[in-house]
Parts: sequence; C-alpha cells; structure tokens
Amino acid sequence: MSAKPANDSASRFRLDTFLQAQAFDGVTLGIAASAILLFLASGGTVLPELVRYWRGVSGQPDIIEVNALVLNIAVILFGWSRYKALSKELAQRCQSEARALRLADTDPLTGAMNRRSFLPAVNALTVAARGRGREVAVGLVDLDHFKSINDYHGHQVGDEVLLALANRFAELLPADALLARLGGDEFAFAASYPPSDRAHIDAITHRMVVAAAQPIECGDMTLEVSASIGIASKSDEDEPEGAESHGEQLMHRADIAMYQAKKQGRNRLQWFELAMECEQRFRGELEAGIRRGLRTGQFVPYYEQQVDIETDELLGFEMLARWHSPELGVVNPDIFIPIVEEMGLIEELSNSLMAQAFADARQWHPQLTLAVNVSPLQLRDPWFAQKILKLLVAHAFPASRLEIEITESAVHESPGLVCNTLTGLRNQGVKITLDDFGTGYSSLSQLRTLPFDRLKIDRSFIRDIQHDGTNTKLVGAIISMGMGLQLPLVAEGIEDDAILKTLREMGQLKGQGYHYGQPEPADKVIERLAPLGLLASDAEGPQLLPKDPAPLAQWSQKVG
Ligand code: C2E
Ligand code: CA
Ligand code: CA
Repeated sequence: MSAKPANDSASRFRLDTFLQAQAFDGVTLGIAASAILLFLASGGTVLPELVRYWRGVSGQPDIIEVNALVLNIAVILFGWSRYKALSKELAQRCQSEARALRLADTDPLTGAMNRRSFLPAVNALTVAARGRGREVAVGLVDLDHFKSINDYHGHQVGDEVLLALANRFAELLPADALLARLGGDEFAFAASYPPSDRAHIDAITHRMVVAAAQPIECGDMTLEVSASIGIASKSDEDEPEGAESHGEQLMHRADIAMYQAKKQGRNRLQWFELAMECEQRFRGELEAGIRRGLRTGQFVPYYEQQVDIETDELLGFEMLARWHSPELGVVNPDIFIPIVEEMGLIEELSNSLMAQAFADARQWHPQLTLAVNVSPLQLRDPWFAQKILKLLVAHAFPASRLEIEITESAVHESPGLVCNTLTGLRNQGVKITLDDFGTGYSSLSQLRTLPFDRLKIDRSFIRDIQHDGTNTKLVGAIISMGMGLQLPLVAEGIEDDAILKTLREMGQLKGQGYHYGQPEPADKVIERLAPLGLLASDAEGPQLLPKDPAPLAQWSQKVG
C-alpha cells in the first residue's frame, strides 16, 4: 500500500534547499580543483628538484616554490575534508527534511496518511488508475460510538483501538490502495478497480466492516466497536460540477453516504447515490429555514382539547407545535422536532413555545389545564426543572395548571436524574404524564417508583379498538393496571363516536382526539371558549398566580 503522496509545496521546499547546498558545495569543489591544477603545474617541476636535492644530486630548490607546494597540498587536503563534511551535512539535512515531510503527511498514531496528504494522493492515484483503464473509489470510515470508549476507558485505550483498526484496514486493502486517518475516529481509503467490477470494492469494504466489528484485546479488556462506511466513485453521467478537485468531490460524496450508513443503523457500508445529495441539500435548506423560523417567530403553539369522556366537560388543552413556514406551509412536529433536536435547538424552541402557550393559557379560564410535550433531550439537563419553574414565574403562570408529557424513552436513559427532575417539578405542583404509554418498555416497578400523575394510552391502541379484539383487551388491561396503580388515564386519538362509546364502557378516562376537534391556533381556542364562558374574564376572580408564589420564585432563582 502506498503511503507517500506527491506534495507540491513540500517538494519545492526540498529542491530549493538542495540547490542552495549544491551551490555552496561548488565553491569548495572549485577551490579544491584549482589547488589540484596548481599542484599538477608546479608540482611537476618542484617535486623532481626536491627528490634530486634529497639524493644529493643537485642544490637546494627555491624555498618559495617549496612553500607554495606545501601550501598547495594543504589546500587540497582542506578542500577534500571540507567536501566530505559538507556531503555528510547535506545527507543529514535531506534525511531530516524527508522525516519532517513524512511527519507532516502522516498521522503520528497510526502511520497512515493524514487529511493533508490524502487528497493529492487520491488525485494522483486517479490519474495513474485511469491510465490503466481503472477507476478509483473513495471510502470514508467512521467508527460507531467510539466516543464512549474514550469516555469510559480513557484516551490511551482509545488510541490502542484506533491503531488496531488501522492495522486491520491496512491488511485488507490492496497494495496500491491509500489509507488515511482523517482525525478522531474517521478513516478514509482509496482503491482502484476495473470500472465493470464494483463488486471488487464491495468485497473489500464488506471485509473492513466485518474486521472492525471483531473484538479488540486491550490489556485485560476486550473491546468492541463497529464501523459505518460510505463509498463514492465517479461515473461519467453524474460527474459533479464546481470548483472541488476530483478527490474532494469523492470525499464529499463518501461522507454523505457514510451519514446514510449511520442513519440506516450503523455497522454497514453504503454507496453514494445522487438522491442522497438532494436529500442533504433539502436537509440543509430545512435547517436554515428552522433557524430563520426560530428568529422570526414562525413556530407557534396549536391546542388540542382534552375532555372528560364521561361528561364531555372540557378540562384543558395539549399544546402541539406547528411551524408556519413561508416556503412549506404549516409543518407538523413529527417532521421538524427530530431535526431541531439534532440541531441542538430543542430547548430554545420549547422555551419559546411554552412562553407563548403560557401567555395564551392565561386568557383561558383558570380551571383549564395546559399540557406540553418535552423532548427526552431536555430531561437530560439537570437544571430542567428549575428552568421550567423560572419560565412559570416569568410568565406568571400557576404551576398547578401545567402538565408535562414525557415519553417512555426519556425515562430509560437516566432514571435517577429523571426521577429527581420530575419530583422537583411535582413538588411545585406541576403534573407529570407518561405519554405514548404502551409503545415503550416501562416496567411496573418504574411506573410505581417514578412520580407520574397520569398515563396516556398511545393512539395506536385506541385507533383500532373497534376492529381489533386484541387492542380492546390491551386497552382494558392498561386501564385496569392504571386503576391498580392509582394512576388516572388519558386516551388519545379518539377519532369517532364508536371509539368513544367503547372507551366509556371501559372506565373513567380523560380523552382527546379528532372527534373533539383538530389542534387549532390560539385565536380559534378563544373563539371556542368564549361562548362556553371559559375565558379568564369569566372566572370569578383572577387566580393567575398560586396563593403563595414565594417558594416557587425562590426555587426557580437557583437556576440564575
Ligand atoms: P403526541 O404527543 O402523541 O401528540 C399527539 C399527536 O396525535 C398530535 O400530532 C395530534 O395532532 C395527533 N392526533 C391527535 N388526535 C388524533 C386523532 O384523533 N387521530 C390522529 N390520527 N391523530 C391525532 P402532532 O401535533 O403532529 O404531534 C406529533 C408529535 O410531536 C406529538 O405526539 C409530540 O410527541 C411531538 N410534539 C408536538 N409538539 C411538541 C413540542 O412542543 N415539543 C416536543 N418536544 N414535542 C412535540
Ligand atoms: Ca403528547
Ligand atoms: Ca401521544
């Protein structure tokens, strides 16, 4: 496997130094050569005279000529030793420059190429491969969950894992292939293949995925990782346009394919497809739109009624986010919440929506509750409870009217932290609902130990309750269990009268669904409440704050 790419600027630097050294060396050589010529010219007459003088055949030679000859010999010896010293110095300098160059082009941990040297090497490999009628494929390798190895076992163990994997990859790649560590847990490779035989690259990459997943022995530990690999190669009809070099284009595309491999469940390989680039562009536009939307107030709360299914009395509303996008129209949260979460903006969005919802709900009758959904990511924040209480205080909204809906997945990640957070909120009067119940893996003990006020039976069970005997039995079982645990229940997704009738026979429930109405914006809620006498102005006296807001304010102060 080749490890030495051509590098323009570095090789130019080496050539300059070499020429400088050569010029200096030439002066020394010139002096030595003149001294030799002088020696040949004068030595021819002075030396025989000297020999004859020593044999006593003739008189003493001219002392000046003899001195000149001795000086001449000294200059030759000096020139020769200087020439030898300079040659040695030059060789050493070339060696250290080569070493510096190698270090600049090499990843110090694995000895593979680095990002700087990989790109020009890919371009050079492509030129060479095409000369032989072959194509080049570039693969981008990202290790899955490598961060946890670093976090749990330290960087030294992490380095050992990286080195082991680099060696495994190097063994699997053909002799003329390139291997680089681009940084962190990201590797890249490039290999040539006959254009009609993509399976050749498939086979190599598949072996790399399998090799990465083999256990790694580190001291007395056995560690396991896996790799997601994206591969891209040129095909004439989709040659991308733009200023990127061929290598850059392939790396960019391999990167897109690698993210796709991650999305599809990791530990796999994925070839680049043009549709992925479109999807990525769309995703980029969506993210830009979301950022703009957050800045300009395009995210607004909608409200879905929650009623007592026995009496049809309106009890409150669940707030559901909507994005009024100028380009896309009204967008539902299933589309944008996961993206906002990945962008790390869920807290900002949630705070903005809650602030709007508190202001809206203050115009409703104080007996009406407000339920809000929170993301599992928000619950990872140890200050979450304090932040919510701070918002409540800032917007003068009573904690007792607020219900927080969390999903089962939020509970599993760190039950201890979630339990503390929920207990903190509950102590201040906020109610906690376990949303989408039945779709996750909550254990009975969690249901008993975590401080829930309510369980919300997932829409998927309610929807088919009419036609699916199993679902009816399941809902019946969930209701009995809720009653056993003294946890009131909510049924979501009540779409018609028939479902409502069945549910009414099953027990006392709170309910919501399109049967009562679709989620609607704040002004429509006011229109709905006004004729029912359920506006704040219809209440006997303003009860917008808890009787004694002091403890709440003090508690929320802690978050600063
Ligand atoms: P969810 O909490 O389970 O909300 C109920 C979803 O079911 C809502 O969809 C609602 O419009 C829909 N729905 C209600 N009744 C019916 C019905 O009778 N039939 C059918 N087919 N659907 C019904 P939506 O508004 O699209 O919300 C989807 C999910 O997005 C929510 O599921 C919730 O998990 C999440 N979400 C909504 N708003 C927020 C928010 O502000 N923050 C966070 N983190 N998540 C939110
Ligand atoms: Ca919900
Ligand atoms: Ca739900």
